[in-house]
Amino acid sequence: MKISGIKGMNDILPEEIEVWHFLEHCVREVFHAFGFKEIRVPVLEKTELFSRSIGEETDIVSKEMYTFFDKSDHSLTLRPEGTASVMRSFIEHQLHKTSQISKLYYVGPMFRYERPQKGRYRQFYQIGAEVIGEDNPLVDAQLLIMLDHFFKRIGIEDVQLQVNSIGCPECRPRYRQALLDFLGDKLELLCGDCNRRYQNNPLRVLDCKVEGCGKACQDAPSVLDYLCEGCSRHFDTVQQLLNDLKVPFSVNPRMVRGLDYYTKTTFEMVTGSLGAQNALAAGGRYDGLIESLGGPSLPGIGFAIGMERLVLMKGRDSVLASGIDIFLAALGEKSVEKSFFLLSGLQKHGIQAEMDFSGKSLKAQLRRADKAKARYVLILGEDELGRNQAQLKDMEKGSQETVSLENIESFLLDLLS
Ligand code: AMP
Repeated sequence: MKISGIKGMNDILPEEIEVWHFLEHCVREVFHAFGFKEIRVPVLEKTELFSRSIGEETDIVSKEMYTFFDKSDHSLTLRPEGTASVMRSFIEHQLHKTSQISKLYYVGPMFRYERPQKGRYRQFYQIGAEVIGEDNPLVDAQLLIMLDHFFKRIGIEDVQLQVNSIGCPECRPRYRQALLDFLGDKLELLCGDCNRRYQNNPLRVLDCKVEGCGKACQDAPSVLDYLCEGCSRHFDTVQQLLNDLKVPFSVNPRMVRGLDYYTKTTFEMVTGSLGAQNALAAGGRYDGLIESLGGPSLPGIGFAIGMERLVLMKGRDSVLASGIDIFLAALGEKSVEKSFFLLSGLQKHGIQAEMDFSGKSLKAQLRRADKAKARYVLILGEDELGRNQAQLKDMEKGSQETVSLENIESFLLDLLS
């Protein structure tokens, strides 16, 4: 019986890998320029790391985690997001002792048991960035400038930055109460999930995609009217800096994020091109998170970008698949042998070279060279081999010349490197 892959977990096939490589290349280029260093953390963590940081009542922790017991009966979870793991690692290795401000980024798979659909998968890749150790609004602005620049660099234009502030432990309880008062007589209009959220996490009601909930919240109080002076000043400065640096954005007071650890600035990059799954990136400030995980009292801010959605936006074939450098077309046993030696020599020098081992006709071999988008084809026929010569075809120019097989490897290395 055939064994298929797991629902919602995709293979990334060779034909679509170029766009992934392109994105990964741009991440490194842009994030390094902004002073970020890569961190790699395991995909498995102790379950309590996520329940404590993301929040027991969130959709992620209450419904979506891949949690299981290992052979020693420890409860482990496949990471549903990157921030908690990075903070765990940061605390464990005392990275704050290395430098006053840490700028870290990661790229890797995350796992959530959601209903798979276009743009939403059970294994998906995120690019994430975190800045730890500085609560200056300049850091918020810098992170958003980097995000804006990254989208420009990868050539995605239909994207809008939305920002909000959800306050801090000082001012959020007042807003929470105002929202509870507002929603109190509208419970019958809210969906079942929101009735539960009303009890545990009322801000999330604002985020619900169910039409009735959206309508019920139409005149809900705005979080921005409840910010304390510190949060208000922080948010004003972030907006001022974005304006000064000409980063376009809009304020969306309805944007509350799905994870409990956020404070002050939150943001999303949304697009009109992907239907329901319109968020390309999301993040925010999390000033209390590190301390709540047993670390030093340090502020932080970060974001995560969904890679599959970037690939969907760009289109699988958007990045021109590059061709190989040279194809060796050999006719006859002796030519195959000679070509094989040449092939290995070129490959060891980093030249992308290929040949056909099956002894097909020249026409069939040239077809294969064409498919591989070869820049050059070296044709070694039996007669030419006798004369210690070969034909070199320049596929771009369409020209052909006779070349000597004497020192052919160094001749080709000169030509191709
Ligand atoms: P979050 O960690 O939920 O704030 O999500 C950050 C970004 O990751 C989103 O804006 C999406 O681009 C992406 N993302 C989140 N969940 C999924 C998923 N199930 N499948 C694909 N991408 C996702």
